[in-house]
Amino acid sequence: MQNMRKKIVAGNWKMNTTRPDGKELAKAVAARAAEVPEGVGLIIAPPFTHLCCCGKQLEGTKVELSAQNCADHAKGAYTGEISVDMLKAVGCQWTILGHSERRQYYGETDEKLVEKVKLALGAGLGVILCVGENLDEREAGKHFDVCATQIKNVLYNFTAEDMQKIVIAYEPVWAIGTGKTATAEQAEEIHAFIRKVLADKFGAAVAEEVTILYGGSCKPSNAKELFAQKDIDGGLIGGAALKADDFIQIALSF
Ligand code: PEP
Repeated sequence: MQNMRKKIVAGNWKMNTTRPDGKELAKAVAARAAEVPEGVGLIIAPPFTHLCCCGKQLEGTKVELSAQNCADHAKGAYTGEISVDMLKAVGCQWTILGHSERRQYYGETDEKLVEKVKLALGAGLGVILCVGENLDEREAGKHFDVCATQIKNVLYNFTAEDMQKIVIAYEPVWAIGTGKTATAEQAEEIHAFIRKVLADKFGAAVAEEVTILYGGSCKPSNAKELFAQKDIDGGLIGGAALKADDFIQIALSF
């Protein structure tokens, strides 16, 4: 699963769908996956409880399975948590980490994220690490600083080799689930900046290979313009990933 600046469209289902609904959604995505060009990866991230049955629907297709989070400990007395080994055992290839909803509502800190990324990579999972500023930070012109700090605090603890298994999702918090999308120029500006922050630590060649996704009200009507930007390699999709046709349409937007 080496990441060679692959184009990726990943669907974050969040806390949506019951298990039967999720199974049908995974089946519908799997049924259309062959329409998506070879160079574009597809990932779905259903809730924990449906990973197993959704994973079965994906067998024999290009669609890969992701969790939305993992525990910051390997095993033991952590009631309610799900470990990386558990995710691996139900067929996950990826986990999303550091989503703004986890940072905002569940006290996910950069320190915890370092532990989670270590565990995920150690278990052989790819990581989709989310970064992004909130509205106050954007309005105060701090968006570059916020993203740089999040990247440095977490990813500067890893190696160039580790970066081959890590995808970054730039998700401005003010654009998530709000219907407000960052303009293609706003998104490209931050994506190029993130690549530079990576280059400062890992070198330009490594930074060039890292897949950087945009997330925040991405939908079939705006995906083409976003994905046409030089440093935008696809999307992390929330609401629009809950309809197979919209999700596939987005993946056909390169
Ligand atoms: C997300 O939460 O990762 C996301 C991008 O959500 P939405 O597409 O609904 O804005």
